Amino acid sequence: MKSFFTVYAFCMGICIGSFLNVLIYRIPLHLNVAKGRSFCPTCKHKLGAMDLVPLFSYLFLGGKCRYCKTKISPRYFIIELVTGILYCLTVYLYYPSYKIFLYLIIISFLVVISLIDFEKKYIPPVLPFIIAISSLIYLGIFEFEKIHLYFLSAVIVSFPLIIASIVASFMGKKAFGMGDIKLLIALGLSIPLSFSFDYLLFILLFIILKYSALFIRNLLIKKPCFFNLNKSIAFADVISGAYIAFIFIYCI
Ligand SMILES: [Zn+2]
Repeated sequence: MKSFFTVYAFCMGICIGSFLNVLIYRIPLHLNVAKGRSFCPTCKHKLGAMDLVPLFSYLFLGGKCRYCKTKISPRYFIIELVTGILYCLTVYLYYPSYKIFLYLIIISFLVVISLIDFEKKYIPPVLPFIIAISSLIYLGIFEFEKIHLYFLSAVIVSFPLIIASIVASFMGKKAFGMGDIKLLIALGLSIPLSFSFDYLLFILLFIILKYSALFIRNLLIKKPCFFNLNKSIAFADVISGAYIAFIFIYCI
């Protein structure tokens, strides 16, 4: 039964990944995410059912629009595949717990948040809000007697970034946005108190990994400055990556 659900989760994940692509494209443009058929961003031709089969359409069309032959970013394919893998792993690791539903919602929105933050350097406030509401609904149903501990966890998880933002603002810099803090508060609501410090360690580890990678890349392309505090930096990818690695490794 578990293997059936794991395979089913992968298929569901690639379809959801396809929808996440729509959200990533439409939310920053303030387009309606529920209405209107998908279209090619270049020639605006409406896409048919055969153009929208997750993973396969991209492969069969050779990564090009069927109508104008413009190259489609491999990002669409990668997001569908990654979402499929994340769904598959979540079900594999958490079956048969109800936590699966909460984690699938959170992971889906983390994919959207990371990509929007990476490209536009901001997190639409509605997205962390949906994560927080999902966690509160879960806690209200399954862990109501311990809900105060999860609130404390949200405070602990977001505390270092709040302090960092205050220090940065005193120095006249704006390194982190409010979006990152809201995201950490929202994620903290799904982390048991005893694990909150472990999650912070994961974030630290991901910061080190990200900036080591950036540093090495900039050394290779001989770009001297790799970290500019005056420029706002995308941080949601670190927060999200650390969260997903954390829930997969700890299986809480
Ligand atoms: Zn086109």
